[in-house]
Amino acid sequence: MQEHTVYMDSKLTLSGDSLNLNQKHRHATIKKQAMMFSCAGFLLVLLLGLPFVYFKAIDLSWPGWLLAMTLNIAVWSFFWLLIHYELDQYLFFDPHFLLIPAAAAGLLICLLVYLVPETRVLVLGGWFTVLLFGSGLLGFVEGMALSVFMAIAHLATIYLLIQRGEPLSMAYEVGVMLPLMIFWTFCSVVLERDKRNRNENLDLRKQLSEMAFNDSLTGLPNRRAFMQLLERESAYCERSQIPCCLAMLDIDLFKQVNDQLGHESGDHVLVEVAQIIRHGIRVEDTAARLGGDEFVIFMRESYVHKAALMVERIRIDVEQKMADLYSETDIQVSLSIGVAVWLPGLELSDVLQQADMALYQAKESGRNQVFYQAESDVSGSHEKRGHRVREEAV
Ligand code: GH3
Ligand code: MG
Repeated sequence: MQEHTVYMDSKLTLSGDSLNLNQKHRHATIKKQAMMFSCAGFLLVLLLGLPFVYFKAIDLSWPGWLLAMTLNIAVWSFFWLLIHYELDQYLFFDPHFLLIPAAAAGLLICLLVYLVPETRVLVLGGWFTVLLFGSGLLGFVEGMALSVFMAIAHLATIYLLIQRGEPLSMAYEVGVMLPLMIFWTFCSVVLERDKRNRNENLDLRKQLSEMAFNDSLTGLPNRRAFMQLLERESAYCERSQIPCCLAMLDIDLFKQVNDQLGHESGDHVLVEVAQIIRHGIRVEDTAARLGGDEFVIFMRESYVHKAALMVERIRIDVEQKMADLYSETDIQVSLSIGVAVWLPGLELSDVLQQADMALYQAKESGRNQVFYQAESDVSGSHEKRGHRVREEAV
């Protein structure tokens, strides 16, 4: 028997394994991005250095501009990484850091640059911090507006410094620093935060669909998910004109298990039975927990005799594995199963009723057995008796 597929569509959640895979994938992506970022930062330092020298932006020797730009990139990189690894969530976002106070803080930084021009490179880091804090509360347009405003303020400061006789180049500031400041803000703050918001929304949606469509105890799809699947499959059944089958499975005397071993052990039995069912079905089949100790299997493109034999194997598996598991108690865990065939043209509710009737017959005839309604039974009255599957037939 092949591994089964847990019913899953775009709306349904992933299992725990898939979530781990997602985390690993995310980790690998972050590592790749950090590498790319470091390389890009290095290239940027080199690229910025050339116009820096060309415009004679500041009276620094060759190693001087490299040091200044490296420092600059390092400060920005630090804040970018802070955001990227979501460490900024440990910072307090002062609710007063809205657009106007943030702009005022930016202006204050410009004043500092004017008073102590040597601190220009480091102060830009402070300028970025203002944006970082602001990004927690500012929207996309506000973030960009603030960034542009502060870049212009920075430019005005440089202009005043040049007027004062400082060896700075306006062409460099306008041509290189201004676009870079705006671009950097955009990439580091706005895009990063946007991406994070989107990821958070996605995670939330996944969690919600998991709660809505998965049975939390067994991990199988729940009744709601299964009913949605049946709606879709009925259309497929009509189109393909090939019969499908439905099996209802109920644990025998499960109340006694709960009473004798406790509710927790009862839960354990449910998980074990779900596992056996999961491994006993084909890839194209879907198993679900309808609630309590009741499970259901939908078998796509299957004839009823074949389906009945398949669930008979599941019944035997449950009986044997549970006997091994509870060999030291007098507990016997078994399944009663009813199978019905879904022929094209039949109503879903009729098929469910047929499977339920077969299950009832299995219980009535002494439990721990499989009953099925054959194709020939379906067209007649619902009162027709089903057929028992014999162990020897498997
Ligand atoms: P029968 O052979 O006729 O099916 O007898 P039964 O005792 O199994 O009867 P029934 O199927 O009606 O009992 C279902 C029991 O399952 C009742 C409830 O106490 C128990 N149950 C329902 N949900 C859970 C659950 O999530 N965990 C546990 N441990 N027990 C549950
Ligand atoms: Mg039961």
